[in-house]
Amino acid sequence: MTIGEEITLDALPLREDLRGKSPYGAPQLDVPIRLNTNENPYPPPDALVADVAEAVRAEAASLHRYPDRDAVALRQDLADYLAVSTGVLVSESNVWAANGSNEILQQVLQAFGGPGRSALGFEPSYSMHPIISAGTRTDWLPVPRRDDFSLDTEKAAALVGERRPDIVFVTSPNNPTGGSIPFGELRGLLEAAPGIVVVDEAYAEFSSQPSAVELIEEYPAKLIVSRTMSKAFAFAGGRLGYLAAAPAIVDALQLVRLPYHLSKLTQAAARAALRHADATLASVAKLAAERDRVVEALLGLGFTPVPSDANFVLFGRFADAPATWKSYLDNGVLIRDVGIEGHLRVTIGTPEENDAFLEASKEVPR
Ligand code: PMP
Repeated sequence: MTIGEEITLDALPLREDLRGKSPYGAPQLDVPIRLNTNENPYPPPDALVADVAEAVRAEAASLHRYPDRDAVALRQDLADYLAVSTGVLVSESNVWAANGSNEILQQVLQAFGGPGRSALGFEPSYSMHPIISAGTRTDWLPVPRRDDFSLDTEKAAALVGERRPDIVFVTSPNNPTGGSIPFGELRGLLEAAPGIVVVDEAYAEFSSQPSAVELIEEYPAKLIVSRTMSKAFAFAGGRLGYLAAAPAIVDALQLVRLPYHLSKLTQAAARAALRHADATLASVAKLAAERDRVVEALLGLGFTPVPSDANFVLFGRFADAPATWKSYLDNGVLIRDVGIEGHLRVTIGTPEENDAFLEASKEVPR
């Protein structure tokens, strides 16, 4: 008997608009092959682990004091990484960091969305965009992609001009479909948007397209580029997301962020991980090559994979995707049913994991 267990969720004075909603919930199952949450399959190298441990140990001596509320040193390191990887002169005042890019997105919605405001996204896309919108009481305006999951950016820009959302989400590469928006087509969307445009670049390191960071100078009042260390950086467990934007946008987010939101341990661990960026990011090329191998093999097996610019592949077609998902699971391979009819999504793993996935693919019902 757990105390309080006689009270059900229905009996609580919950906000009416949250009644009947489901939380974000990728299953966390203990299965040999886990290819369901787009993590980097390579654990951090020993030198990184040692550096994180040492950095955290050093911070432990001052845990009686609050952390740097503005995480200045970490933001400087992130700015340096962005400057080197994009060629844009990003400085610390252009960068903000939080516990995962989900928290970044939530802060953006808190500052620029909210009751009476709206956010628009091109679906299917990252399921947290509408969930965070709902949590901040921002109206969600879904716009469908083409049948092949690509984005008709001209039509999209026209719709944005008509519906005038306060925030537009552009996910590139798009999760769960994998394709990027050609860099040249972003301007049209930025021109049409009356408010903020969030380019969610969680998978940018895997992409063949230049980063939208290059457009911040042109659209300083509109553009926010959101990034994460959860994917290419192999730091999902460390929870570190960040954004690049004009300094005034960073000032706006300071109005809604909780004080001391990034613990000393998080800041120290992320900085240590960034010192090993070259080693962790070496996995990107390996994963992209594996992705191309998996796509070829899926084609060979008669599946229809969607072209991907990320570390995952959406593929089909299945008569009953949830049943096929279960069949993969029975074969010891956890992939993702993202709710797109006839399709499932697989994260690219190590060559051995991908082989196990491809073997299971021969067995599953179509
Ligand atoms: N954006 C996209 C498109 C994602 O796929 C994810 C993770 N699945 C995130 C943001 C959030 O990642 P995190 O909070 O770990 O940074």
